[in-house]
Amino acid sequence: MKIFNSLTKNVEEFVTNEPGKVNMYTCGPTVYHYAHIGNLRSYIMEDVLEKTLRYSGYDVKRVMNITDVGHLSSDADTGEDKMIKGAKREHKTVMEIAKFYTDAFFDDCAKLNIKVPDVVEPATNCIDEFINMIGTLLDKGYAYKAGENIYFDTSKLKSYYVFGNQSEEELMVGVRDDVSEDTNKRNRNDFVLWFTKSKFEDQALKWDSPWGVGYPGWHIECSCISMKHLGESMDIHCGGIDNMFPHHTNEIAQSEAFTGHKWCNYWFHVHHLVEQGADGKAGKMSKSKGEFLTVSLLEEKGYDPIAYRFFCLQSHYRKPLLFSYDALDQAVGTFRKLKNRIASIEAEGEVRDEVIKEWHDKFTESVGNDINTSMGITLVYDVLKSDITGNEKRAVIEDYDKVLSLDLLKEESAEAGADDELVAYIEAKIEERKEAKKNKDFAKADAIRDELAAKGITIKDTREGVVWTI
Ligand code: AMP
Ligand code: ZN
Repeated sequence: MKIFNSLTKNVEEFVTNEPGKVNMYTCGPTVYHYAHIGNLRSYIMEDVLEKTLRYSGYDVKRVMNITDVGHLSSDADTGEDKMIKGAKREHKTVMEIAKFYTDAFFDDCAKLNIKVPDVVEPATNCIDEFINMIGTLLDKGYAYKAGENIYFDTSKLKSYYVFGNQSEEELMVGVRDDVSEDTNKRNRNDFVLWFTKSKFEDQALKWDSPWGVGYPGWHIECSCISMKHLGESMDIHCGGIDNMFPHHTNEIAQSEAFTGHKWCNYWFHVHHLVEQGADGKAGKMSKSKGEFLTVSLLEEKGYDPIAYRFFCLQSHYRKPLLFSYDALDQAVGTFRKLKNRIASIEAEGEVRDEVIKEWHDKFTESVGNDINTSMGITLVYDVLKSDITGNEKRAVIEDYDKVLSLDLLKEESAEAGADDELVAYIEAKIEERKEAKKNKDFAKADAIRDELAAKGITIKDTREGVVWTI
């Protein structure tokens, strides 16, 4: 397998620490609100990554945190605490908010066929681990106490900007949500490991620590949670591109200062789902901007969440994806036609192991080349066009769907996919076609079939009569 590694900015051969085994970590959601479909683009592509690794024969252990404490409105140490913001908005406790939005997140994941990681760990479960790591960082001289908070000292590192070529100015853009400077910091990019005194006197969750009652900073959780479950070395770590700085940069800083060796070999970053702003410029979809696009909202508008997954899979994870309803509608039409073509495969012929293997290898090679999902979809069309038997086509597509997870073989029931008006229209057309055939007007009969196909409706002549699927 080949993967683009954000650390080296190259597509590299994927080599694991232990042969055949992958230790994988994903930054999980901050559960103060619903995930928007931009967040979910990241989780869909990370799901494909995990499934591609499994498809290629790796034994994968994947860990995800749930951020239920310590994430401030900016990704640095400024702005309001996101969880408190959610609790105030809904007049609930922070833990009630965390529970509600964690459940909502996994409901959305289920609708998008995103597998739940092997381990899901809320940050509030791991306070002892955080205190232990912070204690070691203090002992080793990588952290200091100032204004009664504990900070990581970035000047102690040989190299802090591990992801390379952006300038400090560029990197700071996303961070400066709030202008208030923390004068305790010795260096501009130092970050909080443990808060005891801060502007959040109303912080709901606090724990005792050797440095006073307080709560952890955001970054420490991913280092500790990953080490708790995956040990001190990891193969691959993923997240959205905005996590690269400061979050992942700080995770690496504190993890490697703690262990004294390299922590994670490959970094996988999904680029943003973007939308056209009022100024005509495309910008990152975010929870505070415009229409807050959730999976439920898409469903209310009549979209199948799996069609959104298909929309995401059509483009490469390392390119921004521009969302619009027109673009989504196009994906819906293409997806429907594809599913109809699959539904009309005749169940005929033998299933030869070597044929299945040959197509399996093609998929591993093309999707395994830096998670090229659109090539995966192209391969499904290639299967349909090929001269293998109908039963082989179904078996290969079923195999591909272990990674694509588009329910490609699931036939939608007519009732679920169509309203009364549409059913009446289809039945009238089928009647018209029957008449045309009776009158030996085959051109007309074919034209009717094509007209239906253009609308994503497939008809099949069976012994029991005409059967249609949508
Ligand atoms: P959060 O819940 O804010 O911590 O974000 C969850 C995940 O979504 C992180 O991996 C982010 O990097 C990612 N993310 C945030 N906004 C977008 C977006 N517009 N497109 C894709 N991924 C995003
Ligand atoms: Zn993280």
